[in-house]
Amino acid sequence: MTRAVQGSRARARNAPAVTESLLAEDFGLPPMCGQELGSKEAGEQLAGLDSGFVRGCERCELHATRTQTVFGVGSPRPELVFVGEGPGADEDREGEPFVGRAGQLLTRMIAAMTLTREQVYICNVVKCRPPGNRTPTDAEMETCAPYLWWQLAVLRPKVIVALGRPASQMLLATKAPIGKLRGEFHSFPPLGLSHLGLPECRVMPTFHPAYLLRSPGEKGKAWEDLKAVMRELGLRVPGSSG
Ligand code: URA
Repeated sequence: MTRAVQGSRARARNAPAVTESLLAEDFGLPPMCGQELGSKEAGEQLAGLDSGFVRGCERCELHATRTQTVFGVGSPRPELVFVGEGPGADEDREGEPFVGRAGQLLTRMIAAMTLTREQVYICNVVKCRPPGNRTPTDAEMETCAPYLWWQLAVLRPKVIVALGRPASQMLLATKAPIGKLRGEFHSFPPLGLSHLGLPECRVMPTFHPAYLLRSPGEKGKAWEDLKAVMRELGLRVPGSSG
């Protein structure tokens, strides 16, 4: 294969995905938050989005098989947000993200960062469990995405950790593989989402905890990613000087 062909294939793989993401208003939601809110008001805004729009959502087929929607938990004005792909069976039963085995690993990852679940915010791209814990389809993620954008406009984190391929690709509007994306910070919002007017922050894609349970040999790379996030947030990295 010539260098030129290799180059154009790599460019195609890393090219921004065309995104259909809608503005909140076009989606029937109240306008997105355009300013920094205090914790109390931010919490009220999030609770209003959950009870008024997400809980009764029937915009895609996932509503038919869910037990309940899974909105998100944690601080309403966090410095750090974790975004997964979608609830699994445990989350569908309990109504809280990341409470199953992968969630317990995520809780340990957060603790290793010297933080608690209450200090960060944890949510998913899709708010309903895909049957059989399959990966949500692109259409399901696009349909649900305005809820995530609305959440992020209220939360205004400094850093988002995108857990796994679907969340990373969605947040960065790209089809690049997670192995290429992880390990470095990306600017948010990416070009493909700039029309949404979302507040700026940095995204660190890393491996999903469910993948780390299956491939514990990759935990070291994920820890490197999380240490970079700690440095970005001014947290002391255990075992480092200074
Ligand atoms: N996996 C996810 O992506 N999200 C959850 O909430 C649980 C497992």
